[in-house]
Amino acid sequence: MCGIVGYTGFKDCASILLKGLKCLEYRGYDSWGFSFLKDENLVTIKKAGKISEAEEIVNDFPRKSFTGIAHTRWATHGFPTDINAHPHFDCRMKIAVVHNGIIENYLELKKELQKEGHIFRSETDTEVIPHLIEKYYQEDILSAIRKAMLRLVGAFGLAIISTDEPNILYGARRGSPLIVGVGDKEMFLSSDINALVTHTRKVIYLDEDEVVKLTPTSFEISTLKEEKMQKEIHTISLDAVSLGKGGLPHFMLKEIFEQPESLHNAFRGRLDYGRAISKLGGLELTQSEMLSVRGIKLLGCGTSWHAALIGKYLFEELARIPAEVDYSSEFRYRDPILLPDTLVIAISQSGETADTLAAMKEAKRKGAKVLGICNVVGSSIARECGRGVYLHAGPEIGVASTKAFTSQLVVLTLLALLFARMKGVMARREGLIALNAIEALPCLAKRVLKKAEKVEKIADLFYRYPNFLYVGRGYQFPIALEGALKLKEISYVHAEGIPAAELKHGPIALIDENMPTVVLATESNILDKVKSNVAEIKARKGKIISIVTEASREMDDLSDFKCSVPPTPHFLAPILSVIPLQLLAYYIATCLGCDVDKPRNLAKSVTVE
Ligand code: GLU
Repeated sequence: MCGIVGYTGFKDCASILLKGLKCLEYRGYDSWGFSFLKDENLVTIKKAGKISEAEEIVNDFPRKSFTGIAHTRWATHGFPTDINAHPHFDCRMKIAVVHNGIIENYLELKKELQKEGHIFRSETDTEVIPHLIEKYYQEDILSAIRKAMLRLVGAFGLAIISTDEPNILYGARRGSPLIVGVGDKEMFLSSDINALVTHTRKVIYLDEDEVVKLTPTSFEISTLKEEKMQKEIHTISLDAVSLGKGGLPHFMLKEIFEQPESLHNAFRGRLDYGRAISKLGGLELTQSEMLSVRGIKLLGCGTSWHAALIGKYLFEELARIPAEVDYSSEFRYRDPILLPDTLVIAISQSGETADTLAAMKEAKRKGAKVLGICNVVGSSIARECGRGVYLHAGPEIGVASTKAFTSQLVVLTLLALLFARMKGVMARREGLIALNAIEALPCLAKRVLKKAEKVEKIADLFYRYPNFLYVGRGYQFPIALEGALKLKEISYVHAEGIPAAELKHGPIALIDENMPTVVLATESNILDKVKSNVAEIKARKGKIISIVTEASREMDDLSDFKCSVPPTPHFLAPILSVIPLQLLAYYIATCLGCDVDKPRNLAKSVTVE
C-alpha cells in the first residue's frame, strides 16, 4: 500500500531516501518519516503531511549518515499523525522499522507485549514488529527478525535497521512487494521499482517469507528456516517503469487489475470461521445496540451510492433488516424522517465527500447512530462518525472508482453477515458458506481479469456507438447503473442503467440497431425473466453484449458477444460482474483517445456541494 525505501552504502543517504520517497509521492500519502544510523544512534524525523513538505526539513538534517530507512504512509491502523508515522521503534529506541501492509493479529500481540512490559507509543499495527524483534533479540538481529515473522499474521514488506549493526540494512516480506537494488558498493531496498531505477537497474525480487541482510557490498537472502537462497539478479529496462502505474498506461487500469489484492485486504483478518461470522474492529456498537437496530439508511453519492443500493439488498436478504438508500445530497435538504433505532451508514471512498459529510452530520443531529465506510483513514467522515469500517484498498488515484467500489461491496457483505448471524437469522452453515465464498473472491477476480483481452476486442467493435443501455435485475441492477456511470465518466458516451423489466415501460422505444445493450445475466433465479426482456431487444435489432456465468449457455442465442464470470453466491456476484464493465468503459475510452485518469469536468474527491 505505502512506500518504503532503504539504503546502505558510501553516500549520504538523506537525499537518496528523500528522492526515493518522492518517486512514490504520486500515490498521495498521508505521512512520511526517516531514520538514519549516525554514530551508533538513531536519528529520526517523521511527520503527518505530504512528502513535498519533507524536503526542507531533510535538507537541514545532520549530514553524513550512510545507512537509513524511509517510509510514506497510507494509514490503515491509527490516524495519520506524527506519532503514527513510521519508522516505529522498540522500547530502547535501538531498532527502527518501516512497514508496508497490515498486521492482522496486532491486537493480541500488543496485549502480550504490553504485559511483558513493552511500552507502545503509537496506535499502529506496525509497532508490534520492533517490539517483537526486541523480545527475541539475543545474539543477532537476523534470527530475531525471523522469530518475529513467525508470530505475525497478515501482510508486510519491512525495512529494518539497528544501532547495534551500524552498516547493515535488513528487509523481509510476506504478501507485500519488496525489491533489492544492487549498486556498486551500495545497496537499496524498496517496495516499488520506481524508487530504485535512478540508482541502479540491477534488482532482486524477494519472494514470500524471505529475509535479506544487506551490507554496502553484499546481500544474503534466506528463508524462515535459515536456508540460504541463490537469487537471480534481473536487469530492468526503463520502459518497465511508468511512474507508479506498474508498467500500465493508466492508474485506472492498474487499479482494476489490483482488485484481487484490494478485495483480499477488505476481508483480511475479518473472517471468523470459529463463530461463522465476520469481525469488524471499528464498529463500536455493543451486541444489544446491534440487536436493537430496526432499520438501516444508506447514504452515498455516485459509485458509493451504487454500493449503497447493493447494501440494501444485502441487509434485507441476509440480515432481514429493512434498508433504504438515499443520495446524500437529497437526504440532507429534505428534513428526512429517521425512525428510532435506525442505523445510518455513510459510504465514501475519500471520506471527504461534502454531501455525504453534511448528510451524516444531519443524521447525527437527529440522534441517529452513524457508521462510516471509507477508504481514507482519518478522513473527515471517519473522524466525524467515530465508528466504521475501512476498505484498506490502498490509494485510488483514477478518478473513476473501481477497486474502492468492489471493496465497498465486500465490507457491506461483511456487515450484513455480522448482523445476520448476530440476530440469528442466518444459520451457522450458511455463514460458513458465505465466509468461504468471500475468501475465494480474489482468485475469482483474477480469473475475470485474465479475459481482459476479450473485453478489449468488444470495445474495438463498439466504441463508435454514441449511446448504450445497461440492464440487470436484482443485485445486478445497481451494477447496470455502475457500468453505465463508468462509461459516461471516462469516455463521455451517453449510457443509461435500467432494471431489465422497466424496458417495456418506456426505454425500449430507444432500441434500434444503433443502440447496443449490455445485459447482466448472472442472476440464475430470474434469468428466464431477463431472457424475455432481452428477446424483446433482439426483436428490435438491438445488439447484445451479455455478462454471464461461466459454462452457462442460456444467453447463447440472444447474445452478439458474451463475457463470462465465475460462479459465486448471487449476493457476491456483483463484485465479479462489474469487472468486465469497468474494463469495457476503460477500453472504449482509450479507443476514443480520452484522458482516462483525468476525465473532463470531474474531480477525484468531491469536496464541494
Ligand atoms: N498498517 C501500517 C499503518 O497503518 C502500514 C500502512 C502502510 O502500508 O502504509 O501504519
